[in-house]
Amino acid sequence: PVSFFWFRRDLRLTDNAGLYHALKSGTLVIPVFIYDTDILEKLPDKQDRRVQFIQEAIKSLAENLEKLGSFLRLKQGKPLDIFTKLVQEKTITAVYANHDYEPYAQQRDAAVEEYLKTRGIPFYTFKDQVIFEKNEITKADREPYTVFTPYKKRWLNTINSFFVKAYPTEKYFHQFASINSVPLPTLTDLGFQHTDLVTPNIRVAEEIITHYHKTRDYPAQAGTSRLSVHLRFGTISIRQVVQLAQRLNATWLNELIWRDFYHMILFHFPRVVSQAFKPAYDHIPWENNEKYFAQWCTGTTGYPLVDAGMRELNATGFMHNRVRMVVASFLCKHLLIDWRWGEAYFATKLLDYDLAANNGGWQWAAGSGCDAGPYFRVFNPAAQLKKFDPGNLYVKKWVPEWESSNYNQPLIDHDFARKRAINTYKAALTDF
Ligand code: FAD
Repeated sequence: PVSFFWFRRDLRLTDNAGLYHALKSGTLVIPVFIYDTDILEKLPDKQDRRVQFIQEAIKSLAENLEKLGSFLRLKQGKPLDIFTKLVQEKTITAVYANHDYEPYAQQRDAAVEEYLKTRGIPFYTFKDQVIFEKNEITKADREPYTVFTPYKKRWLNTINSFFVKAYPTEKYFHQFASINSVPLPTLTDLGFQHTDLVTPNIRVAEEIITHYHKTRDYPAQAGTSRLSVHLRFGTISIRQVVQLAQRLNATWLNELIWRDFYHMILFHFPRVVSQAFKPAYDHIPWENNEKYFAQWCTGTTGYPLVDAGMRELNATGFMHNRVRMVVASFLCKHLLIDWRWGEAYFATKLLDYDLAANNGGWQWAAGSGCDAGPYFRVFNPAAQLKKFDPGNLYVKKWVPEWESSNYNQPLIDHDFARKRAINTYKAALTDF
């Protein structure tokens, strides 16, 4: 008997829940990866660093499987079509995968599961990318939390060594089916081009984590883990990362709990993808000035910290969390541009783009999210710069012309923008 393990956001062989269950089931396991054309075709930039990241992760997976006498079955197309063909080629006893909480993925998986069912093939899926999912952490009345602090308290009271224990997949590696290696598709085969991707180190220095609570807010310092892209594509296991956080730093653990929280929110409230979590916020009359939006995107607003962040994003696919908060607040509040525009721009650029975290971050900045601050709190980009980039090192790196006559004048006055934001929000929320 043979089963499939379908890799998605879990591109690793070790400590992988679904893979563990597949290998342990006693059948031979054929590992499968599908370049999903439904996703790839929607990517506007053919030099997308994420596609290259995936391709490199796939190469590494395939090489490791080759060492075990197996290989990846690589396919390109729509997952349902691929499975329709795959199950005709071979007698399959089951398909295994890990849970994915995004609305698109839920639909995709439901369609695949339905089809497999018609062929009498079970589709087994497992929690892998978060510590707690779905209804595992709920209020006493079983309703989902919508405020972070009590969620976190419950999360911390519930966690124990069981939830962070690694799945010992390596004990069952002999269960991989023997498959001949084949040449892997190149980026060109996939319709993409080579990029300037710099993959963050997967081995994070313990020193960084130990000092995280002191260094995390300073974009000029290497004070955060840079693990986000690895967590996004599952090249590292969340259980391993949480164990490290438990050992080294509670503030860092807190951020990992935010990650679980936003995944849980997306699962229970998929409407947040297009709507404000707090419905009243969908009544804000956004100005949506396209020229201002273009200036924000290109980092030419005349606000150095905002411009530095946007230029860092455009040049590398990364932006420091503190700066993400500042640029997002600036777009929604100073420029009165719909948070969905900013969210969509981040979605095309961020190497670590994750629907749950990105939507959560944007709705938080816009004030519309669950557990966002009060609408009248407006970040002052100049004060943020002074506080979090005191030596101006970050800003000088990304906006070298800053302080010269070549630099843009601020496209909007801070005091004016602040008052306008507060009045606009207030009117919209009160009317509603
Ligand atoms: P660390 O500070 O070392 O944190 C460790 C890990 O915790 C991160 O890798 C990430 O997986 C998780 N994490 C940290 N902060 C958050 C958070 N606020 N919410 C959820 N998870 C968090 N994070 C993404 O992974 N993908 C996104 O698309 C994304 N979009 C964002 C958009 C906005 C507007 C804002 C304000 C934040 C966004 N974040 C997003 C959260 C955060 O900025 C990044 O996770 C972080 O900057 C990544 O750097 P790091 O790996 O060094 O993080």
